[in-house]
Amino acid sequence: MKIAILSRNPRLYSTRRLVEAGEARGHEMVVLDTLHCYMNINSREPSMHYQGNALHGFDAVIPRIGASITFYGTAVLRQFEMLGVYPLNESVAISRSRDKLRSMQLLSRKGIGMPITGFAHSPDDIPDLIQMVGGAPLVIKLLEGTQGIGVVLAETRKAAESVIEAFMGLKANIMVQEFIKEAGGADIRCFVVGDRVVAAMKRQAAEGEFRSNLHRGGTAKLVKISPEERSTAVRAARTMGLNVAGVDILRSNHGPVVMEVNSSPGIQGIEEATGIDVASKIMMFIEKTARTHNTRTRGQG
Ligand code: ADP
Ligand code: MG
Repeated sequence: MKIAILSRNPRLYSTRRLVEAGEARGHEMVVLDTLHCYMNINSREPSMHYQGNALHGFDAVIPRIGASITFYGTAVLRQFEMLGVYPLNESVAISRSRDKLRSMQLLSRKGIGMPITGFAHSPDDIPDLIQMVGGAPLVIKLLEGTQGIGVVLAETRKAAESVIEAFMGLKANIMVQEFIKEAGGADIRCFVVGDRVVAAMKRQAAEGEFRSNLHRGGTAKLVKISPEERSTAVRAARTMGLNVAGVDILRSNHGPVVMEVNSSPGIQGIEEATGIDVASKIMMFIEKTARTHNTRTRGQG
């Protein structure tokens, strides 16, 4: 197959590993810089262009779209979908997963465990909002943050009130969440491919920190997950419409709760922590499922 990887940088570990795994399995792998793909949108013969040439003959596209270029990146992916190229993850699903609140609402509709989450617009509603999620300590999150930036733990009701008020004053979109203290600063990253968790790692926050993000100094190691955790992760990915996802779960007193579902999960951390060849699992999935015009939404919606 001829497979495109949408990535800003061919030297990134995840991009390199996908190229390596694809080539080892006999595919032609082409890395395209997402921001240098440009498109001709018309009703007769839409096309995708790159460095002065129209692109042809791709069977599948692997989107690795960073949060900072979601808008342009999903437009590029949508164009590929309209041309009939099979997307590993669909543009619509990626857009969905980038909005934490929307994701939570979708997961809630399917009855998937999650921390109690509140959302409000008016400062007048702050006291009730805090009470609704069980009072302090609680977690306050920017809707579009990543890598732990924009996630704040408010230890007291007073602190929670002033932080929420400050964010609202800045017109930042935030949600408020029950703090899962018993997780002890650890979360489980389940790497989902298709309907399976192919690898899972436990990330432990650095001393004195509650955020387990590796970018915040967290450390990762292989973990054995329970059948309930496994099915929660797979259902969460399916609910978002993602074939490949990094589902982050906290171990709470009331079972596994999903914190977020990432549509471009990093491959380095999980491969290093588990020793599992995740890149090849992704390639095998593409071989099994890629068909032209096999997009559920064809870029609609
Ligand atoms: P980001 O997208 O920035 O990674 P997350 O929602 O994943 O944001 O939060 C970052 C980290 O903060 C998580 O990996 C987890 O360790 C911690 N965390 C987030 N929400 C909660 C919560 N409700 N209770 C306990 N810890 C949390
Ligand atoms: Mg996270």
